Parts: sequence; structure tokens; C-alpha cells
Amino acid sequence: MENPDLLAMEKTIRTTCPYCGVGCGVLATVNSETKKVSIKGDPDHPANYGRLCSKGSALGETLSLDERIAEPSINGEIVPWNTAISFVAEKFKNTIDLHGADSIMFYVSGQLLTEDYYVTNKFAKGFIGTNNIDSNSRLCMSSAVAAYKRAFGSDTVPACYEDIELSELFIICGSNMAWCHPVLFQRLKAAQEKDNKKIVVIDPRVTDSCAIAQLHLPIKPGTDTILFNGLFVYLHTNNIINAEYLEQCEGFEETLFACEDYKNPAIVAQLCDIDLNDLLCFYNWFAEIEKTVTFYSMGVNQSSSGTDKANSIINCHALTGRIGRAGMGPFSITGQPNAMGGREVGALSNLLASHFNLNDDNHREIVSKFWGAEKNISPHIGFTSPDLAEKIESGKIKAVWIMATNPVVSITEANRLASALDKCDLVIVSDCSKQSDTLKYANVILPAQGWSEKKGTVTNSERCISLQNRLVEPYANAKPDWWIVCQVAKAMSFNGFEYASAYEIFKEHVALSKHQNSGETQRSFNLSALHELSEDEYTNLQPSQWPLHKIDDSIDKNCSKRFFEQGQAYTSSKKIQLIPINPKPPASQISQNYPFILNTGRIRDQWHTMTRTALASRLNQHLPEPFVLVHPDDACKLKLQNNDLVQIESEQASIIVAAKFSDGQRRGELFCPIHWSNAFSKNARVGQLIAKNLDNISAQPEFKFTPVSIKAAPSSWHALLLVQHEIDTQDFLIDEQFLYWSMNKHAFHKEYFLSAKVGCESEFFDKTVYAWFDSNTECVTYKDEAQGIKHIAFFSQNKLQALLFITPIRQELPSNSWLNSCFGTDLTGMANEMNISEALLKQSFVAGKPASGDLDVGKIICSCFTVGEKVIKKSISKHQCKTAADIGRCTKAGTNCGSCVPELNKILTLLSLTEASGNPTILKAGRP
Ligand code: SF4
Repeated sequence: MENPDLLAMEKTIRTTCPYCGVGCGVLATVNSETKKVSIKGDPDHPANYGRLCSKGSALGETLSLDERIAEPSINGEIVPWNTAISFVAEKFKNTIDLHGADSIMFYVSGQLLTEDYYVTNKFAKGFIGTNNIDSNSRLCMSSAVAAYKRAFGSDTVPACYEDIELSELFIICGSNMAWCHPVLFQRLKAAQEKDNKKIVVIDPRVTDSCAIAQLHLPIKPGTDTILFNGLFVYLHTNNIINAEYLEQCEGFEETLFACEDYKNPAIVAQLCDIDLNDLLCFYNWFAEIEKTVTFYSMGVNQSSSGTDKANSIINCHALTGRIGRAGMGPFSITGQPNAMGGREVGALSNLLASHFNLNDDNHREIVSKFWGAEKNISPHIGFTSPDLAEKIESGKIKAVWIMATNPVVSITEANRLASALDKCDLVIVSDCSKQSDTLKYANVILPAQGWSEKKGTVTNSERCISLQNRLVEPYANAKPDWWIVCQVAKAMSFNGFEYASAYEIFKEHVALSKHQNSGETQRSFNLSALHELSEDEYTNLQPSQWPLHKIDDSIDKNCSKRFFEQGQAYTSSKKIQLIPINPKPPASQISQNYPFILNTGRIRDQWHTMTRTALASRLNQHLPEPFVLVHPDDACKLKLQNNDLVQIESEQASIIVAAKFSDGQRRGELFCPIHWSNAFSKNARVGQLIAKNLDNISAQPEFKFTPVSIKAAPSSWHALLLVQHEIDTQDFLIDEQFLYWSMNKHAFHKEYFLSAKVGCESEFFDKTVYAWFDSNTECVTYKDEAQGIKHIAFFSQNKLQALLFITPIRQELPSNSWLNSCFGTDLTGMANEMNISEALLKQSFVAGKPASGDLDVGKIICSCFTVGEKVIKKSISKHQCKTAADIGRCTKAGTNCGSCVPELNKILTLLSLTEASGNPTILKAGRP
């Protein structure tokens, strides 16, 4: 029976996950006494139907207030809000007077809510009078936007999530869907199990997404347009065209002409560096199966020809009429939770609000009038975010306001931006976390509310608007982003920012979507049916997918949830445009000095620059330090061992990370995750390696192709340090003797991987660690001076305080999954539980492994239940597990969010291959 006291203390609130563009619905249960928030997937939300991935499941563990910004400050001095607001308003006014409106720039974020985005865009474009507002979505989906606009005359995603289930051929192109859009991947996997659909992965790497694919095409990076041009001409040659649909299109002849060079599949296979039979299998499937979805993401967008890549995909769908029909479509997926909201409000420097066109005089006038803007909106496209460093250096930008993003980690030429910000007259940063590296360059810091504190809407990849709801009271003096912007606008004497709530802003956003939305100014983005929404209805907003047309007084339920089934685009001729594509190679090429291609991307359990996900200790265990994936053959040539520390260098900068061998990499190609910042590591920020090679239509940078070199890093010793939270480790982290460090937070302690520069003696380091403890602390030490090995365990108050392992050979650092579970626990109780003496327990710590092998669970695979590889392998052998579900029944692994299921399957496959041959074989996806 339910506990009535507990029920009285608990309240369940519907909200939305703040991470990826899937936009999963969340049920958050808040305990008013403990303030703890427990998280479940919302079974009624159409994006996830109750599922959540590892990141979403751990949301309740990311609400710690330790790293929050509490108060506004100016040049490091805490000030009241009104002082901060007046300061910013005055500075903006002076800057505009002296240098003009275009000397101000706003760098905003797909993490903002639509209401925040809306008022910031209105403030910049309508009232400051500059189009210098650009979202960090420039880095993730601006090519998709540009391609849709070229093809449809409008940034309109034609497909929806239901098409995952309804498709019969599902092509995952340039996306590790299993890690980056995990809940959609689970939907796809469940659908495949039910109806046996065909799945093709197009990606230079073997990723977990290949686990459910019948065909993997590991194309040479940058050859996507060749592959799809080849497909276009193949479909035409075999008469797989939809003549009726083609009537609604323009540009067919020119596009076919551009594809002629790729008529011979053997040449295409050679250029893409894939097996000809695999290529033909893909082309045949596309030809034979009408219900086809092409799902694409960063691997397509983040390229100097990202717009062309997306259009080459759309061309094939238009040729076959597979757009806007159930189970069919070119489906670009957004990376961030509200990238689509940013597109709705026009928060890129080349867009205008509500899908009006910035380059149309009439459209600018309509929006200016609607806003009551004092200045007409400028006809000039604003600066893009990758331009920011250069524009500050050249003196064009004098003041920049950065909101909810961490560009000195994430943008191209990240070091150049850091130096530029350092010299910029005014840098304002509004954020909620102290762990943003960008704060270091801010003159003004404004504390923003976090995910659990603010209220407003987000729109996901399938155009579905959901509410992010307030769960707990805001921290200290943190304010909603929209409120901060409106206060500054009012302080600058602008009218039109007197909103009392996010609801009032949303109503205006809806009204603008409805405004003049017919005839020549008709747009796909239409929320008319929400025009009469009351505040109460807004607070209880059901997930609502646009277009939301109104018939009489209610939502038009017959309104199609897909676009362009009949053609009828938003181009001037109303026809869909086929775009002739002439494939271009990536902007930079490998050379003698930089002979490897670096690809970058996300990992399963971290989000962006880790300011939130790293607060959940379980998310730090799957891949605990920054790394680079290297093919074993390349590693062999470079004389590298698995887990060696390596230096990756590009023309821009160099970083230090751990090398991990992966036969899923193509030879000559490397992969680094993007997440680690200076707050969590030294010398591991990947953004600093990336050149500003931009797509000349979308201005999206080429994050997937950077020529680099790789070599062993010059280190003299390595250490693993685990130390309980109360010890202040800040000072030692800035010690110049370290070549590299990375840090993870756990519930009771911090975990550091450290490496020292050549010539640095380890003694200086262990002395620093000794100095943290007083004479009452017991130390147990193991030393092998000849080998340079030292292990020290520190105990006091019957608890483990710190563990330090120093070795010249990195591979000899202990496996830490057991060690990480020993902090915060009473030693007597632990020894009793293990049925050993306390002395033996202490020796186990110093040895770096438990006295009983059973307690070392191995590398963590399932973050939700902290299930390690050793436990999984033991269960497979003991219980004869044949499937991931069998493993789940024995260990719980994979039974919550399911994000680790591809890895469970990989372990099963490797074990069965080992059993069969005595040796594990490299997994290679191929034709069935
Ligand atoms: Fe959040 Fe995961 Fe859903 Fe993305 S897939 S919205 S990260 S729960």
C-alpha cells in the first residue's frame, strides 16, 4: 500500500529532457522534504512513450547546487541585479553610440527555451538593430536548415518520428544514433524486431548503431555527395522515378547532368572506398523499397559541403516522390533540445522570426511592425558564431553577450576565440554553471536558472512543442534568461519587453506565427490553433506538433503532420527544387605533417561540455577520460600501446588524450569525443584543433575532417588519484609539471588521471598529497623504487581518505571500478562484509584490487545499475545467456534505459566468436 505521508510530500510534474533533439517527455517526482527529484520517462509523450536514455535517466542526479552561479557580478565583484542590468544597458548604449549597432553580438544556444530565444532575437534584430545574433546551432544543424530552404523554400522538416516505425528501409547517414539519439534508436530497434525492416548505416566508423544494421557502408570521409549522386543516377537509369511527383519539382535535368559522372557504380564504390557489392546492395534496396527514411545528422551537417550533402539526399527522395508520405522522407535530426525552437524564432544571423525571410523587404517590414520595433530590421546578414573571434580581433565587435553556451570549448579555433574574448571591451556571460570555461573571459556574469527551475517550451526534431516545467525553486538569485534580456531591454528604454511570464512571450510567438500567414507570406510554421491558449492550458501544455492550424475554435486534427506530400513548396514557383551537386573534397587535406584524419563527436553518457552530465557520478563511469580511437594497425606502426597517452596535433593546436584501440576505425582515421573542457581536464579540449573551414552556404564548420598527427606524449610518470571531496585539490591542478590530467566526480570522492612532463620527479607530487593530511591520518604504502612504482592509501575516521598510484607505465594503473565504490564506506563494515580483516582490506586498497576477485566488476557498461563487463561476462557463462534480454534478467544491465544494449550484444558476439575460434574476430557489418 502507498505511504500517505510520502504521497503528501511528493508531487509528479510533467517536463521535458534538456539534452538532445529527441525531446523526451519526463515525469519528475519532487519530494518537498528532501528536495530530491526522481525521474521516469513519460509514457504518454509521443517522442519516447516512457523510454529515457542513460543521460535522461540520470537527470535527478544533476541538480546539485555546488557548481551554480548564485549572484550577478561585474569584473569579479558581486552586485545586485539592478546594478548589473544598468551596467549592461549603459555599456550597450555607449557602444552603439560610438561604434554602431553592429558592434554588438549575441551568441545564444540551442539549450535556451523558445521564450528566451524569442525575446533575445527580438531585442537584437528589432531594437538594438543588428542581425549579429547566432546560435550554437550554427555548429550542429545550419547545413540542414540551408538544404531544406534550398529545396523547399522553407526550413521545414517533412517527416516525423512515426516514420521510424512506418518505414521499411531506414538509412542512418552520418549519425551514431545509438549514442546521440538513443531513444529514437530504441524505437527503431523495437520496430525492426517487430517487422524486420532493413537498416543501412552510412558512416566511416563502425559504431554501436551498426549493431542492428544489415548493411554498413564505411565510406571514405567526405564522399557522401558522390554516394548519393551515384544513387540518383542509378535510380534514374533503372526508371525508379515518381513522374507525378517530379512534376512538382524543378531542376531535374540539371541535377541529372551533375550526377552523370557517377553513373558507373564501380567508380562510385572506388571513390567512396567501399565494396562494390555493398554499394549495389544499398542502391538496390533503395530502388526496391518505397517506404524509405534517410535519417541524417552531424556526419552530414558538420562539413564544408554539409548543405550539398543534405541536398544530395533530398534529391533522391524527391526523384522517387518519397517526401511527406507515411514511412518516407529525408529526416534531419537536431542535436540540441531546442535547436528547432531557435529555428522557429530565427535565432541564426541569416534567419528572421517565425519563418519570415530576412532577405525579403516585405517580410522584414511585417516583423518590424509586429514588434513595434523602433528601427527597421537590418537587411544585412549578421556575423556567424565561427566569425566571432575574427570580428573581435578586427575591432568590428566591441561587446558580446554569450548565453547558455561554452564556446571556448566548443567552437572552431577555440584558443583564438579565448584570446579574442580576453581583449574584447565587454563580454557578458549568462549561464547557470561555474564550470563553463567561458566564464573566465567575462566582465559581467549573470546567473541563469537551471533546467529544473525554469519554465518554457522546447521544440524537438519532429516539430513537437513540449513544456519544460519548473520542478524546484530557483537557486539563489538565478533568473530566467528571458527575464534578464527583458530587463536590459527595458533599461535601454525599449518598449515591448513588459512580459510578466514566459506564457506571455509564448502567446506573442504564437501570434507572430499566425500573422499574415497566407498568400505570398504563407509559412509552414503555424501555431494558430494555440492562439487562445490560457495560462493554465500553457502550464499543462500537451506535446503539440506543428503545423497547428485552426478550424473554427479547435485544432485542425486532419491537418497533416508531414509536409510536401503533394510537392507544394514555399519557393517562389511553389515547386520543390532539385539541386545539382558537384561533389567537393573536404577543405583541408592530409599531408606529410598531418597524415591522419580526425573525426569528432559525442559519447553515450556525456552532454556537450559536461557541466551537467558530469555531476551524475554514474555517467562518468562508462568512458571516464578523454580519448582518441585509433585503428590497431596504425597504433602498431606508431608503436603505441592501448591506453598510452598521445599528443594529437593539427595546424591550430595540440591536445593530449589516451589512445584506445578500435578496429571500428578506418585506417588513417581517428575519432575524439568533444566533451572535455578545462574544468574537467588539462590539454584535452578538442575544439582548439578544428580549423574554421566553413560550408559556404550554411557557414557550418567542418568538425568531421581535420588533418592531424598523432604520437606518444612525452610523459615521465602517470598517476591515478582518488581523493574524498573535502580535500581542496584546486591548487595542485594548475601545477605546470602536469602534462595532462582529467577528473571525474563520484558521490564521495574525485578521481584523477594524471601524467607528468618528462623530467618531472614524482616525489614533488606525493609530497603535495601527503601535505593534505594531518598526523592523525594513517598511511599504508607500497614502493618499488627500482620500477618507479608507489602506491599509498590514506585512512582516517575509519574511512578511506585517498588513494594514490604512481607508475611510469600507464597500463599498470589499477582498474578502478571497485576502488571507486569504496569511498564513503565504514572500513569495519566493509571488512566484515568481505569477511576479511581490516588490515587485509587496507592492503587490498594499496594493491589496487579487492582481496576477492568477485568484487571487481570491471569496466562499467550499464550506467543505470553500475554493471561492469566482468559481471556481464560471468553471467553469460554461468546462465548461458544468449541475448541482451537474458543478461538483463540476470544482472539488470540494459533493463532501464537500454543505452548499453548494443554493447551487451557486442560482448555476446565477441564471446561466441571466441568460443567458436578461440580468438575474437573483428566485427564487420556486411550484407546478409
Ligand atoms: Fe534526453 Fe536521452 Fe531522450 Fe535525448 S534520447 S531527449 S538525451 S532522454
